[in-house]
Amino acid sequence: MRSTRRFAAFAALGLTLAACSSEAGSQAADQAESTAEVQEDVSFEPGTTMAELNEAGSITIGTKYDQPGFGLLNPQSGDPEGFDVEIAKIVAAELGIAEGDISWTETVSANREPFIQNGQVDMVVATYTINDARKQVVDFAGPYYVAGQDIMVATGNPEGIQGPEDLAGKTVCSVEGSTPAQNIRDNFPEAQLVTYDVYSKCADDLANGNVQAVTTDNVILTGLVAGNPEGFELVGNPFTEEPYGIGLELGDTEFRDFINDVLEESFEDGRWADAWDRTAGRITGEEAPEPPAVDRY
Ligand code: GLU
Repeated sequence: MRSTRRFAAFAALGLTLAACSSEAGSQAADQAESTAEVQEDVSFEPGTTMAELNEAGSITIGTKYDQPGFGLLNPQSGDPEGFDVEIAKIVAAELGIAEGDISWTETVSANREPFIQNGQVDMVVATYTINDARKQVVDFAGPYYVAGQDIMVATGNPEGIQGPEDLAGKTVCSVEGSTPAQNIRDNFPEAQLVTYDVYSKCADDLANGNVQAVTTDNVILTGLVAGNPEGFELVGNPFTEEPYGIGLELGDTEFRDFINDVLEESFEDGRWADAWDRTAGRITGEEAPEPPAVDRY
C-alpha cells in the first residue's frame, strides 16, 4: 500500500511535469478536481455562521496565490490550487457550498489577521501557523498539518548553511508578518533579514544572488525548489514546529467546532490524504503523513 501510493505520487509528478511543458491546462483540471461531495440537505442552528453561509450559498476564503503545492493561482482558471485550497473546499462542501461558489481572496502573510477581523474573508486557509500571539485576535480550527521552518539556498549550498546559526552575517529573505521572519528577528539577530510581502519575491532574490538564503516553512520551500530545481536546494533541517490552522473570527466557537469536526472526519475517511496526494504530495513525492490531532483549545 505504502509503495503503491508513493509510486502513484511519482507517477503523478511525472504527469504534472509533462502537463507543465505541453499543456498547462490539463494539470489544472486534474489538481482542481475536488473529491469533496457537496452536502445538499444540511441544516444548521439559526443564527450560526454555518447557517448564514449555507443560506447565502457562498463563502469568501483567503489563501496564498504564490505557494506551489499549497495555494498557487492558476492564471487560466483564475482560481488557486493546492492542499490549502482542497482543505477549504472540503469545509465549504460540508456547508453545502460547491467549489464554484467559493470566492477566493489572496491573503498574504501580513494581512491574514486583519482580513479576518474586518470580515473581508469568512476564513483563512493559508499555511497559517497557530500561535498564541495570533490567538489574541483570531481563532483557529485545526491543526490539519504540521510544517517546520527550514532554509533554502542556491544549488551546491555555496555558503555551507546547515541551520539558522549559520545565517549570522548572511542575507536571508522571508516574508513580513510570518513566524519565520519573527523567529529570525527574535533569535538570530546577526542574520541580515530582508522581507517582502510574498515568498515568490524571495525566490527571485535568491535566483538573482541578491540574498544568500530564504527561510520559511519546509513545505513552502519545497514548492519553490520544484519551480527552480537547477537553482535552489533545501537545507532540509527543520528547526521549528508550524501547526497549520484555519483562521476564523475570534469568539466564533460554533464555527470553530464545526470546522474541527469536518477536519477530523476528513482525516478519518481519506478525503484529507486524497487532497494531499493530488497537491502537495506531488511536489514532495511523499505520501500523506499521519494527520495531527486537532487542538480544541
Ligand atoms: N506558517 C508560517 C506563518 O504562518 C509561515 C508561512 C506563511 O508566511 O504563510 O507565518
